Formats: sequence, structure tokens, C-alpha cells
Amino acid sequence: MSSAPVEKVIILGSGPAGLTAAIYAGRADLSPVLIHGSVPGGQLTITTDVENYPGFPDGIMGPELMEAMEKQAARFGTRFHRSFVTNVDLSKRPFTLTDSEGQSYLCDALIISTGAEARWIGIESEQHLNGYGVSACATCDGPLPAFRNQHIAVIGGGDTAMEEANFLAKFGSKVTVVHRRDALRASKIMQQKAFDNPKIDFAWDSAVDEIIGSREGGVTGLRLKNLKTGELTTHDDIRGVFVAIGHKPNTELFAGQLEMDENRYLVTKPGTTQTSIAGVFAAGDVQDHVYRQAVTAAGTGCMAAIEAERFLESAG
Ligand code: NAP
Repeated sequence: MSSAPVEKVIILGSGPAGLTAAIYAGRADLSPVLIHGSVPGGQLTITTDVENYPGFPDGIMGPELMEAMEKQAARFGTRFHRSFVTNVDLSKRPFTLTDSEGQSYLCDALIISTGAEARWIGIESEQHLNGYGVSACATCDGPLPAFRNQHIAVIGGGDTAMEEANFLAKFGSKVTVVHRRDALRASKIMQQKAFDNPKIDFAWDSAVDEIIGSREGGVTGLRLKNLKTGELTTHDDIRGVFVAIGHKPNTELFAGQLEMDENRYLVTKPGTTQTSIAGVFAAGDVQDHVYRQAVTAAGTGCMAAIEAERFLESAG
């Protein structure tokens, strides 16, 4: 049986954390392999304007930023593999990763930067109509013709919901933010932006009871339940529902092998990216439920590469 070569470092995930780790590992002559899924670049590839990444006084488009990071990582010898890893064995070194085609990858150090993905409310009509008027990404789907000059609902009360509501208000005739409480979780500045937007209104203390529509005709209405009174109201002019209730970390692959917190984020030793297994490092949103920013992801990606390099040196 031919076995795969043992790589010094494998990086799993291609968002700002993974790509920054690749730049640093590449420059340290570790010749990293970066494994990414079908859409390289992570969450930023589904973002439009990034205004808070330092170095871009006029902002930069998310996909453009990720392409630049990819080029920079490639320049220092990163080898990119498109692969869907389905199994990992972290019980011994070299660590083994196996993909959906049965191909194995071996490495002495592993950097996990698999990110996080959108949470869903969990009702049947939401999944049935996902892609047919229901979405978890306003920047991806908001500009679609189906939502132009239409009444759109955004579910959630955090910064993401406010950001999406403001963005969608550019396209829709009206945006209703549906929130389960009577106070927003979003930061004051984001709240104020939404309150100041004449196209945005709020359905307080409300939960989605049913998204009405069909795959053929898209969303044709939304039934809300007032959580204080139990009253049901149907909004039959709503044509789009954007779910913005947070994210969950992509950590299923590591269940039972790496320590996780109650929300399934990977636990790292404070001040480091070191996981519960020596030689396995975690960077970016997969281990960060607090900041979740591109720049903090990049920062921890840098930390992970430096720590991996030191680990490899000391492990011999
Ligand atoms: P979040 O802060 O966790 O907010 C999630 C929202 O969804 C909350 O209002 C929550 O309600 C609601 N929610 C959760 N589960 C729900 C359910 N099953 N049904 C109905 N509503 C539900 O998530 P986020 O808005 O995605 O933000 C994540 C992090 O990224 C935050 O730290 C945020 O500050 C940051 N962020 C920053 C920016 C920016 O500064 N430009 C933009 C986006 C995100 P409750 O309030 O009742 O819990």
C-alpha cells in the first residue's frame, strides 16, 4: 500500500485564519499544504465591502481581499488542495486526514481554521424554501431580482441582522426585522443605523411560525407568532426571508478528539492557539465566539503558524 507523504504542516480551511497561517508557515520554509472546500476563501468571499480590515482606507471587497491573501500564500510555497475531509485521526502523530475520495493526508502539525457557518431557526419551511426566497446571506442573495422592490424580512437582533437589514433596504421596498425580544442585541451604532433607516421596521417579541411559499413561486408570506400574546399574524406581502441568528463552528470532524466548549467551539489554551492535543492548533472563528473578525482570524492564524513551527522544532 502506498502511503501519503508526511507533510510538516497541513492547514484545514482557507479563510483569513488559514491563509495567514499559510503565509507565515510558507515563509518559515514549512511548505504548507492548505486544504480547502469547494469555495476557497471562507466567509469573506460572501461579503461585500470590508471596511474594518486595516490597510484599506477606502475599504476592500471581501473576495478581492481573499484573492490577495491566496496569492500571497502561494508566493511563499503554499500548496492548495481542494478536498472534502471527512475523517481525522489525531490519536497519534503523524496525524491522518482522510477525504471523501478516500485519499489520506499525513502531517506532523495540523492547523484547524475551518470557521463557522450560519445558524438556522429549525422549522421545516425554512429548509424547504432555502434558496427559493429564504437565505442566510444577504450579501450573496440580496441583490437578486426576486427581492428588488419587495418587502423582505430579516430574522435576528444582533449585528448581523442589523447589517443585513441595512444592506437589504438598498434593494427591497421595505425590510422588517423580526426579533424574539423587545431589545436588540446589536451594538448601539448598528441599532441606530437601522432605526434611522426609513425603510426598516421591527416586529418585536416575535418568532417565525411559518414561511409560506413554494419552490416554484418562492416566498409568498410569513406567519409570525407574538411570543408575549401568542397571537399569529400573516404578512402576505413578504417575498424574502433572511435568517441572521448567528453562526456555528465547523467542528463536527473533531468530535470526541479535541476539547470543545458548550457551543462546540474548539478550546485553545489561553493566549495561544494550542488545542487539547499537542501539535494541533486552532485559529479563526472555529475557536473564537467573541470577536469573529477577519483581522482577529488573521492574527490567530499567524499565531498558529508560529506555534506550529516551534512545536515542530521542539518535537524534532
Ligand atoms: P449574535 O450576536 O449571536 O446575535 C444572534 C441574534 O439572533 C440575537 O439577537 C438572538 O436573539 C437571535 N437568535 C438566536 N437564535 C435564535 C433563534 N433560534 N430564533 C430567533 N432568534 C434567534 O450573532 P450575529 O449577529 O451573527 O453576530 C455575531 C458576532 O459578530 C457578534 O459578536 C457581532 O458583534 C459580530 N458582528 C459584527 C459586525 C460589525 O461590527 N460590522 C457585523 C456582524 C457581526 P437574542 O438577542 O434574544 O439572543
